[in-house]
Amino acid sequence: MKKELIFLGPPACGKGTQTNKLAEYLGFPHVDTGSLLRAEIAKETEEGNIAKSFIDKGQLVPAELVGKIILKRLAEDDCKNGYVLDGYPRSLEQAEMLEKINAEINKENAASFRAIYFDIDTQILIDRIVARQSCPKCGEIYNKKFKPSKVENICDRCGAELKTRADDNEETAKARFDTYFRETEPLIKFYEDKGVLYKIDANGSIDEVWERLLKVIE
Ligand code: AMP
Repeated sequence: MKKELIFLGPPACGKGTQTNKLAEYLGFPHVDTGSLLRAEIAKETEEGNIAKSFIDKGQLVPAELVGKIILKRLAEDDCKNGYVLDGYPRSLEQAEMLEKINAEINKENAASFRAIYFDIDTQILIDRIVARQSCPKCGEIYNKKFKPSKVENICDRCGAELKTRADDNEETAKARFDTYFRETEPLIKFYEDKGVLYKIDANGSIDEVWERLLKVIE
């Protein structure tokens, strides 16, 4: 049966690292709205230009714009057996939109849906954000303090030059947390009420969290 996996948790809770690894493990695509939007910005498309103004302020990009991008991506052939969706949905409006998108794509084919929530102590996260680096080519995530690349500024996996995201500064990070608590956190209850929420303790090392994640993926 098709497996639809979505992930909830505050910025820099480790979702990106774990979902990249999980997608590889399951052989599903890793669909990450933040990266899709940054790719639009890099290409200087009209959608990218609109998205940039929201991302720079730590706010959510309008649901309609993200919905269009995500519908197109989830309808691609490589998502037919399942997907690992990171960073979407981020509001109740988007959660309802995702239900419609899934229904439209799946038609009468059955699918199992799980929302996995990374429960973490948020005090440490701003520190984590400002030291973060990511690979623009393969999406691997590093941290100068907690998970440095073997060669400074070079991706271990594909050799590309690592980048610090424009929104990984203290001021924008704080705004992203406000946005998370206001818009995204209510989704925990939304999915709990539907009986599809799986909570994991996201405090600890990458390996510890990975072991916990595997237990909620069947
Ligand atoms: P992320 O890479 O997931 O940390 O996302 C970076 C930024 O992209 C967020 O702070 C938002 O401005 C924007 N973004 C990513 N995903 C979404 C989404 N599902 N809805 C609206 N904005 C998003």
